[in-house]
Amino acid sequence: MRTDEDLIRAALDAAGTAGPRDVPIGAVIVAADGTELARAANKREELGDPTAHAEILAMRAAASALGDGWRLEGTTIAVTVEPFSARGNRRRGRSGRCGTWSATGG
Ligand SMILES: [Zn+2]
Repeated sequence: MRTDEDLIRAALDAAGTAGPRDVPIGAVIVAADGTELARAANKREELGDPTAHAEILAMRAAASALGDGWRLEGTTIAVTVEPFSARGNRRRGRSGRCGTWSATGG
């Protein structure tokens, strides 16, 4: 996965795996060479956990995969709200965001 479009598509795929009661948000994290480290869906309802956001779950998994403590040096994370589902659209005003950014540094 190298382009932003690839990343957003992967994040959308991850959003599609959210449980039926969860807002369909997905996240994917790739290493500097494009290797996928983690992907996750929002699981706040499924886990009953207010911190179980897609990006949080993905960051935890990516940190574990990298094995450098909490650091995600050189990685890129993409987070998205599924734009095509009625469920997502209804809630977009509250939770919508879509984009990529580098997670280098602090
Ligand atoms: Zn979040």
